[in-house]
Amino acid sequence: MSHSTKDTEVILPGATLGVLGGGQLGRMFVHAAQAMGYFTAVLDQDETSPAGLVSHHHIRTGYEDPQGLAELAQLCAAVTTEFENVPAGALNQLARSLPVSPAGSAVAIAQDRAAEKAHFVKCGVPCAPYAVIETPEQLAAVNDALLPGILKTARMGYDGKGQIRVKTRAELVKAWEQLGRVACVLEKMLPLAHECSVIVARGRNGDIVNLPVQRNLHRDGILAVTEVYEGNMPAAQAEQAVAAAKSVAIGLDYVGVLCVEFFVLDNGQLVVNEIAPRPHNSGHYSQNAMDMSQFELQVRCMTNLPLVQPRQHSATVMLNLLGDLWFKQGDTAQAPAWDRILALPGAHLHLYGKVDAKRGRKMGHLNITAATAGQARTTALQAAAILGIPAF
Ligand code: ATP
Ligand code: MG
Repeated sequence: MSHSTKDTEVILPGATLGVLGGGQLGRMFVHAAQAMGYFTAVLDQDETSPAGLVSHHHIRTGYEDPQGLAELAQLCAAVTTEFENVPAGALNQLARSLPVSPAGSAVAIAQDRAAEKAHFVKCGVPCAPYAVIETPEQLAAVNDALLPGILKTARMGYDGKGQIRVKTRAELVKAWEQLGRVACVLEKMLPLAHECSVIVARGRNGDIVNLPVQRNLHRDGILAVTEVYEGNMPAAQAEQAVAAAKSVAIGLDYVGVLCVEFFVLDNGQLVVNEIAPRPHNSGHYSQNAMDMSQFELQVRCMTNLPLVQPRQHSATVMLNLLGDLWFKQGDTAQAPAWDRILALPGAHLHLYGKVDAKRGRKMGHLNITAATAGQARTTALQAAAILGIPAF
């Protein structure tokens, strides 16, 4: 059974809010909560976790440590998560004594590509043709129509990790061996025109609001650029994406911030890719281009504060700042020329306070805001040139 206090009870500023996970999403949640006058508690083993470093309380235990969870429950009025691979059991344990959002059951679905796809089918939202591969028999029975495809581990994948592209049956067999014969999903490789995502926030009373559709560019399986402005994609497609994202959230009886990622195919068809049960990298622009960020939405959802439809006030382009940018001069890490970046109009720098720069590691992001889409793009391309990010 989950926590029984009245579902309408509002948790006002002054209370302590908890987050499972101490990564950059947790850090930005902490910043948003503190700005509104809440105290914060982070549970993360890592002593130098980005969120732990800025939180009032930092409990340094693993997600399944009973004492750590008990301490978190004791400190907090409500708990959320920033890390989608938090064991659902930990969320369920916390939910016995305090409000937890999103629920363990929704997070469990997002953690498993097979369960996630079954949910899309249930909601009537089209996804890529796929097959679940858990046994050699299922592997042998795969339909040729799914090739060429991408074999993805059902669990624990992120930033394109745990994925192998396969053209033939022989490659498929080899790829499954390579992934350790764990439960996988084989997805047909689709001809992508572009990718987009939608962030929705849903309250306990069913109120639901959304951020505008984000147009995303991935490089090497990692989000590189997000563009959000009027006309970033055809209006009909954008509306369809928002409607699909809402039905996925409603179908989960979801409480909290949810990101739904989509592919837009060459023929204009919209296909859902995956969901993230938390704020998402593609929603970071909301910190500077919207009158409410995705992290404030997360705070409002978990505290039962009103969900007001956010309004975009600036056209925006977000550039992800990966650790690779620290190694443009050689093998010794050297921070980019932030002073040159901050000389650009509408440049908002967000760095996550990670101790070491590493290739492929998300170190921060740069939000560029402007009055028009053209201006935002021009400035973002200038920033990209300074940083050594390829043009887009
Ligand atoms: P993250 O969680 O960081 O978004 P992930 O590791 O879960 O990433 P996916 O979103 O499944 O990975 O895939 C990463 C990228 O690979 C996609 O954004 C897309 O560019 C490409 N991709 C994945 N599946 C397909 C597909 N079926 N057809 C074509 N391209 C694909
Ligand atoms: Mg993805």
